[in-house]
Amino acid sequence: MSGERYMADSRTKVVHDLVKEENECRIDEIVRAGKELPFKRPDEAHKEGYMDCSFCMVASKMCRM
Ligand SMILES: [Zn+2]
Repeated sequence: MSGERYMADSRTKVVHDLVKEENECRIDEIVRAGKELPFKRPDEAHKEGYMDCSFCMVASKMCRM
């Protein structure tokens, strides 16, 4: 990781906001499995087919609706 705010789980295809990270995100497990994929912006992850995490990305999801 090099300062990117968002991190995607390449197993579940879910992107997380590290600033609003929740326990349910299991960020440590993703890192331990080596499946983390850093993104600077959520749009970049969405373009790759990643979905917003329903725990830490709730606010940004509401903004887009
Ligand atoms: Zn999350």
